[in-house]
Amino acid sequence: MNVTVIDPGATLGVLGGGQLGAMFATAARRLGYAIAVWDPDPDAPAHRLADHSFIQPFTDSSARQDFDRRVRAVTYEWENVPAELCEQLKREVPVRPSSQVLRVSQDRIEQKTFLQTHGLSVPTFHAISSPEELGRQTVLGYPLICKTATAGYDGKGQWKIARAEECAMVQQDLVRNMRPGLRWILEAWLPFEREVSILVVRSLEGTMRTYPVVENVHEGGILRQSTIPADVSATVADQAATMACRAVEVLGGIGVFCVELFLMAGGRLLINEVAPRPHNSGHYSLDACTVSQFEQQVRTLCGLPLGEVRLLTPAVMVNLIGDDVRLATESPGVQEVLRESGAVVHLYGKRTIRAKRKMGHISFLAPTRDEALMKASAFRSRLSGTCL
Ligand code: ADP
Ligand code: MG
Repeated sequence: MNVTVIDPGATLGVLGGGQLGAMFATAARRLGYAIAVWDPDPDAPAHRLADHSFIQPFTDSSARQDFDRRVRAVTYEWENVPAELCEQLKREVPVRPSSQVLRVSQDRIEQKTFLQTHGLSVPTFHAISSPEELGRQTVLGYPLICKTATAGYDGKGQWKIARAEECAMVQQDLVRNMRPGLRWILEAWLPFEREVSILVVRSLEGTMRTYPVVENVHEGGILRQSTIPADVSATVADQAATMACRAVEVLGGIGVFCVELFLMAGGRLLINEVAPRPHNSGHYSLDACTVSQFEQQVRTLCGLPLGEVRLLTPAVMVNLIGDDVRLATESPGVQEVLRESGAVVHLYGKRTIRAKRKMGHISFLAPTRDEALMKASAFRSRLSGTCL
């Protein structure tokens, strides 16, 4: 194993230049690293923070050689980057987490099968490789959720199916989006009590640390709000940490991982998914912890000591999705947002507002979780123009 430390001053490469890539770049720059960002979209936010920008398609081999030459190590901002590219890059420079981890993580069927094989509980699922199989399955019952095995995020590529009669309609959608090799995963729709997530960082030597458990609220499959710490018992928190560490360990992951779990009535936990990278539900760590998830990503990539995972204050993070961002950027609302004590505003600088697009987030910090929740809920009622 290559345990050579990459000291500050070196150039680090990141594949993907969205907000996650930009936050990685910011953390890396603060530690004195230079950054090469590769994202084919020239408007991707991280390009503005890059020392070297690559906007060629990920399949461009001369861009790959140039990227290779410039960087000492490579990471990726999320799992929807080509694993083949990581495989080619790793011949020249360390890629962390590895391309094998990426491959398992980027396919929901592979990932759930892998976790289950290693004794970790996941929702009951069934893989299909043609739309016709959707109506034929009898193992799961209804309601169920159908998800594309690859390339889905923020609830995209997902269909909730309440009754057998709805299958025909969803099948038409699947046929419309059909591409060779496409597969879908069907999962029992779980009446969970809460959704939680937990960040695990794992060093080159295999040392692990976990951040506190976070409680998440999603709307339409997209994260709306995260509360830290989660209001769960110590037993549930311990079990979440144990399952998350086990998942990262069996994957052999080096870096930052976020494990999303469903908490069922009675306290049983099931892993929903594992993201091999910093996660939206971990953004609170930028403002509420000594060392953020993005700094941990830099540290684990470079073989530096893991940072502490100490929570300095309770926090509630609210995402600014689509038009929400206007309240935080346009007068007169923006003054009110910026005047709020304990509110830390993050705007991603995306040029175009689109429905369901993550445009920024606000962390509400307060001495107690209840106060942080009150601030967040007052803000959200302003967002929706109604009292929640
Ligand atoms: P994504 O990659 O888009 O985050 P997820 O599988 O995490 O995909 O699904 C997004 C959200 O949809 C989850 O956070 C949860 O709220 C809901 N969801 C997903 N799968 C299930 C399920 N099996 N039962 C109930 N809700 C689910
Ligand atoms: Mg998810």
